[in-house]
Amino acid sequence: MLLKNKVALITGGAGRNGLGFATARMMAAQGARVVILDLARAEPAAAATLLGEGHLGVVADVTDKASCDAAAAEILQALGRIDILVNNAGITQPRKTLDITGADYDAVLDVSLRGTLYMSQAVLPAMREQQSGAIVCISSVSAQRGGGILGGPHYSAAKAGVLGLARAMAREYGKDNVRINCVTPGLIATDINKGLIPDDKLQGILDGIPLNRIGEPNDVAGCVVFLASDLAKYLTGVTLDVNGGMLIH
Ligand code: NAD
Repeated sequence: MLLKNKVALITGGAGRNGLGFATARMMAAQGARVVILDLARAEPAAAATLLGEGHLGVVADVTDKASCDAAAAEILQALGRIDILVNNAGITQPRKTLDITGADYDAVLDVSLRGTLYMSQAVLPAMREQQSGAIVCISSVSAQRGGGILGGPHYSAAKAGVLGLARAMAREYGKDNVRINCVTPGLIATDINKGLIPDDKLQGILDGIPLNRIGEPNDVAGCVVFLASDLAKYLTGVTLDVNGGMLIH
């Protein structure tokens, strides 16, 4: 088992069809004690029970610093350590540049970018004290190619910000044996894009994906597990593309 006895915290992990929950399931199968963190309406405790015995659900809002700090404190109190953080919570909006309002900007940047900063800040002191830890941040192909398929420019900016933030944190925390890496998923079938791709657009999208299919949550989960595990113990600051070849470069 790749993650035996590790405590793994996954933000935005409660959506049963999402990347976070697929990662939670795979990490639990690899021996980790998993904590699913999500908004109250997503019912993280109910999601955690689906993983089996010993896993936890925590309600928190990653855009709120006090909420992130309280969640980390609760987990440290209950489980004694946090070995892995997956910064997965994110929202998107289909917008054109001129249509992005200040509220849109705040909503999208706050969850992906501010949330990645606040949750990382909440766990890094414990990881530094342990002199070990792995953080995996979920960015997007949208950050690299200037728009994925559905998100607006503010989403690309948020996800590009995650890449820069993660690389800078990786430099700062390498000496403490804390590794910080990113995954950039392409188009993966989850609730974030459900029903939003018109049938007449699908073939055009597939034509741009050498592996000729839309991704599945487990395609991303496997890569997150790898980066979080000791198999990747000499990797920090990397960006792992998980997009079926959409962006070979
Ligand atoms: P999803 O909607 O299933 O998951 C997002 C989760 O984030 C939800 O459970 C939601 O409740 C949670 N969340 C939202 N705001 C939050 C907040 N303020 N605090 C805590 N949790 C919050 O969608 P998904 O596709 O599984 O997305 C997971 C991540 O992957 C996101 O960061 C998304 O941007 C990224 N991503 C997805 C795709 C894709 O094609 N699905 C591609 C690239 C990147």
